[in-house]
Amino acid sequence: MFSFAVSPHRSLIVVAAVIAAVLLAAPALCQNTTAGASAPAAAPQLRVFDSSLIDKTVDPCENFYRFSCNGWFQRNPLPPDQAVYGRFTELAELNRLRLKQILESAARTAGPPTQSVNEQKIGDEYASCMDTATVNKLGLAPLQPELDRIAALKTSVDLPALLAHLHSIGVHAFFDMGSNQDFADSTSVISFYGAGGLGLPERDYYTRTDAKSVEQRQQYVAHVKTIFILAGEPQAQATQDAETVLAIETRLAKASLTITEQRDPQNLNHPTDVLRFSKELTHFSLADYVAAAHAPAVGKANDMEPKFFAEFNALVADTPIAQIRTYLRWHLLHAFAGTSLPESFDQENWNFYSHVLNGAEKQQERWKRCTRRVDQELGEALGQVYAARYFPPEEKQRTLDMTLAIEQAMDKDLDSLDWMSAATKIKAKEKLHAVMNKIGYPDKWRDYSSLSIVRGDALGNQMRAHQFEFARDLAKIGKPVDKGEWLMTPPTVNAYYDPQMNNVNFPAGYLQAPFFSGLEDDAANYGDMGSTIGHELTHGFDDEGRQFDKEGNLSNWWTKEDEQKFNERAECMVKQYDAIEAVPGVHLNGKLTLGENLADLGGLWLAWLAWQEKAQAAHVDMNATMDGYTPDQRFWIAYAQQWCTQTRPEQLRTQAQTNPHAPDEYRTNTVLQDLPEFAKSFSCKKTAAMVNPKPCRVW
Ligand SMILES: [Zn+2]
Repeated sequence: MFSFAVSPHRSLIVVAAVIAAVLLAAPALCQNTTAGASAPAAAPQLRVFDSSLIDKTVDPCENFYRFSCNGWFQRNPLPPDQAVYGRFTELAELNRLRLKQILESAARTAGPPTQSVNEQKIGDEYASCMDTATVNKLGLAPLQPELDRIAALKTSVDLPALLAHLHSIGVHAFFDMGSNQDFADSTSVISFYGAGGLGLPERDYYTRTDAKSVEQRQQYVAHVKTIFILAGEPQAQATQDAETVLAIETRLAKASLTITEQRDPQNLNHPTDVLRFSKELTHFSLADYVAAAHAPAVGKANDMEPKFFAEFNALVADTPIAQIRTYLRWHLLHAFAGTSLPESFDQENWNFYSHVLNGAEKQQERWKRCTRRVDQELGEALGQVYAARYFPPEEKQRTLDMTLAIEQAMDKDLDSLDWMSAATKIKAKEKLHAVMNKIGYPDKWRDYSSLSIVRGDALGNQMRAHQFEFARDLAKIGKPVDKGEWLMTPPTVNAYYDPQMNNVNFPAGYLQAPFFSGLEDDAANYGDMGSTIGHELTHGFDDEGRQFDKEGNLSNWWTKEDEQKFNERAECMVKQYDAIEAVPGVHLNGKLTLGENLADLGGLWLAWLAWQEKAQAAHVDMNATMDGYTPDQRFWIAYAQQWCTQTRPEQLRTQAQTNPHAPDEYRTNTVLQDLPEFAKSFSCKKTAAMVNPKPCRVW
């Protein structure tokens, strides 16, 4: 599954093994302070608008983020097992405790007689993951057949079949292959071939020349070497092999697009067909690869990065086969060096990816990682139980009502845009009216009956779960598009817009306090969840989403003039965020974060408009205060309080370099500086820090 075009609302934090680089939507927000506690499933006192978090010694017109969040910072020091800890983590941790309760009950050997087949599976998988004694005792034995396969590779002629097998079990070597909607025809699912094969977070980690980046590469080589030694290699060989891995990955990285270039879908759209593509890969038999992968041997395909595949082809031709074996061995060990291999691997994997790259001081407890693992592998089996227990139908209806109100606000706002022509407005409205709203969980649950989960076989289960997903994904090719499919699981504290589906998706796990609550008023709920709904909708019209039409086809519906005006306005935001220095020497990347920044500003504006309508219709007394704040002020405070987040400097650096979302401080202050309505609510002077004298505005 290629979900590159999807923009999750929250950044994804790599806390354990690196998730498939292309799976932007893989949920990975987790952690907490109540570690090890038995699961109290009752909600703590989380509030959408919380006056007790406000620091009155800070002038809201000088630093609204500090004003709104200082109390939360004081109460929530960064736990040692976290690289980042915020409101999203706070709720994700509560959900995690609930999932733990579900999983522990399902894992009991004599489960309740009413236990379903799915509950049996999630229970067995959780128990297998938690069983460190067995995992340690088995050592590398369960992986030996795979190591043997790689050792048996004698010529590059046999590489395609081996690589297909490795891809199916979740080893991300060289490239990624999967299914996706055709960019030109969103009703059709075709095969996609994408760049991949890196062990560092993204390609620029291999090319940057500053001292910190050079050091990180050395630390990476040391990590690869340690993993080889743990796998039984002598010191000298491990040293040499780690250098081989870096050399091959550097070559792949240099031929790959940057993450900023990847944001433009045009750069990733190179339609071909399998036969034509196979003629270009003169040293790699695509026919053998697709036969072994059970992927289509003919038909339309997308060679997402032709330059990358040309380099891959050359690399296969001129790299000694022993070096290719080394590279594959590394990626095999890397793919399983989490909860499926002995603790020495697990610990080393954590040390590099969580500690070195992101600054975490302590590894998360095993139950948290096992809970996340089951969520990733059997997310809809686990999510079905979760949603039934924690997401009542009333919540679904309330979210839907708010989504419709925000969509209405956008409809009206489009009329009032002074820079867009009537012709483009008609198209924009058509697209808006075609947006499908998906709330909570899927209407039709995934069928896991063909996935075999064996208690006590953690590594085998991980492989089979990948094989299941690989086959499920490829089976979509040539079939009608399933618009009901979700890219996030129900307990996820996140949301996304899918431009090829033209739908917004709000998982049940997110639709709760501190983001949304039936116990609080509209001012708070619109400022918080309303702004998120607006954010996701605006993604349909950001620099990336605007290139897709109402059906999800990559086709231009803008007049030339309007396109130019959009770009001029967007440029204001590119410059605004380029100017922000997140950590000394590292600025934000205005182009990389443009889509998210547009969505933040546009989304909050839509939520504000919808809230004003709602307040008027409900005759809200706009001067009446609660805890000393007017309804409008509470709207802005609730917006800011969703972003209270503590972040380690290492994590902040990684985020600034790799993440399409700006750090949370700027998602608050920089966005609000562009909205004069905010300044008005707090009577800020024109010269105040929270007022941008030349505000940027697109939507
Ligand atoms: Zn977003």
